[in-house]
Amino acid sequence: MKRGFLGHCPACDKGRLFGRFLKVAPQCEVCGTEFHHHRADDLPPYIVIFIVGHLIGYGILMTETRMEMPMWAHLAIWPALTLGLCLALLQPVKGAVVGLQYALGMHGFGAARAKKTS
Ligand SMILES: [Zn+2]
Repeated sequence: MKRGFLGHCPACDKGRLFGRFLKVAPQCEVCGTEFHHHRADDLPPYIVIFIVGHLIGYGILMTETRMEMPMWAHLAIWPALTLGLCLALLQPVKGAVVGLQYALGMHGFGAARAKKTS
């Protein structure tokens, strides 16, 4: 999961996991491990919404209870921070989900690993 979080191949840690921003490469360019059978689906955005929602919600509550901030400042800070955090977390979280699927041998990763070792 850590290798995937950093955007590296979960098998060798040298190749790149992503071809584009959220597009997982079909296979590792270094060790040839296939990634095309991953099924991250909706789990990465769900996890990102869960994390960012808690951070932003806590931040809004704390600023409202501890200081007086004008409404224009709220409208300037929180939507931009939400968007920035979501974009920053989406690729690492998706990489971690693909890494988890690789570690658990889910969705063809187990068969591919068994074929590779035999
Ligand atoms: Zn690799």
